[in-house]
Amino acid sequence: MFIETRGNDSNRPKKVEFSYAILNPSASFGGLYTPESLPKIDNSFFEKMRNENYKTLSLNILKLFNIDIEDRVLQEALNLYDNFDNKTTPTLLTKVKSDLFVNELYHGPTRAFKDMALQPFGHILSFLAKKESKKYLILVATSGDTGPATLETFANKENIKVVCLYPDGGTSDVQRLQMVTENAKNLKVIGIKGNFDDAQNALKSLLTDSDFNKMLKDNNINLSAANSVNFGRIIFQIIYHISSYIELVKQNEIEIGEKIYITIPSGNFGNALGAYYAKKMGLPIEKIFIASNINNILTEFINSGVYDISNKKLLNTTSPAMDILISSNVERVLFDKFGSARCKELMESLAKNKKYSLTKDELVLLQEDFEAVFCDDNFALETIKHYVNKEYIMDPHTATCIKAYNELKTKDIPCVICSTAEWTKFAPTMLNAIRNDDKKYSDKEALEEISKTLNAKIPECISSLFSKKIVHDVVIEKSDIKKEISSFIKGNQ
Ligand SMILES: *Cc1c(COP(=O)(O)O)cnc(C)c1O
Repeated sequence: MFIETRGNDSNRPKKVEFSYAILNPSASFGGLYTPESLPKIDNSFFEKMRNENYKTLSLNILKLFNIDIEDRVLQEALNLYDNFDNKTTPTLLTKVKSDLFVNELYHGPTRAFKDMALQPFGHILSFLAKKESKKYLILVATSGDTGPATLETFANKENIKVVCLYPDGGTSDVQRLQMVTENAKNLKVIGIKGNFDDAQNALKSLLTDSDFNKMLKDNNINLSAANSVNFGRIIFQIIYHISSYIELVKQNEIEIGEKIYITIPSGNFGNALGAYYAKKMGLPIEKIFIASNINNILTEFINSGVYDISNKKLLNTTSPAMDILISSNVERVLFDKFGSARCKELMESLAKNKKYSLTKDELVLLQEDFEAVFCDDNFALETIKHYVNKEYIMDPHTATCIKAYNELKTKDIPCVICSTAEWTKFAPTMLNAIRNDDKKYSDKEALEEISKTLNAKIPECISSLFSKKIVHDVVIEKSDIKKEISSFIKGNQ
């Protein structure tokens, strides 16, 4: 069962099943649904799983959670991993140094790790909507990776409509094309004249707009959400950390029971929360290293216990998916460690004072699991070049992890870093790194150049984007969003 991070307001059920939590993710006082308890895994579990494939491992872990979704539906959801590069396992664990391994999580259809969770999640959400004979609308604002992955998973799914807002000019060409060429009747993609914050704020104000809500009601449409705080995504993000551990066992790098480090390039903290839950369940993780770029709010928080955005401005970096000030999933860690009353207090302080502080004792508890560093773009670009010379290509988000590997690792045990995107999504930055210049390359020329000089493969889902038909060509002012979405909903029953 699932409970709420900020306690219960007595207008909602005190405990809910998984299906309820993922269809209606907004909990009391603006909190999040979170599992009442976590199942345990131990050495005998790893022993049993060491000869199984990724899908079987996943099903076994999901069953431990005892959620109210039938095995058949879970199995169908997991079968979507068959469309990833390698049919037997959607991830790939690559050794780049004797103690450094990369867990490549980007081998899915949109080349970012978001597919790992959104692909199976989309199937389950659509199944539940059909089962209830209800229609759901999912609104997303994206800075680049969430939009494509959400559209891809819900394309042509029954009982679900998706409206995706992106900042016009604020994403890479590849990311924009991934969205505007997505051809399905139940999807609407809208460019906004403004930045990502404008897009996100526009959505937030729609959610509380009474006209808009009446229109949805009149059209029998319910609102759900597919953002990274939905537990339906988090549950799939626990699995790949466990799988990387078992893979190290399979590759004879560790014995069952030995500890490892896991390093995560973090933004909204979903990926890191998955590792935290895996650790709590019994995965032998020595520490979880949190990597940030110069938007280093997570680094500050984990090192000082103070989460303070009162004087912070969001900065643009070469790792845009980590450009964030409010990292939503941190809330679940606060709840887990300090309980719902304290969690509510801290979150209210963040909303009111743009700041909260842990006590000394609380900070000690946080640091039992997490350590953090950040790096700037220069470090990331030099790191990309360094590893290209060693014949490993990592994207700018993954490169931020190397600072953690260099500076935080104190024990001689393996360090797994999570690779969250393929280089093909950020080709101009990659070429800047390789050539040590700051020219403005187009995605297309950078892709072609890198593929030629490094003999690196561009997957067909990326190369085909440039000749695909553009289906969504709407770019509008913020003030027209409500009108545009309403006419999509009404015209397209
Ligand atoms: C979303 C994303 C991240 C951040 O992941 P969180 O789970 O939000 O912390 C990092 N890298 C890439 C490439 C992403 O798309």
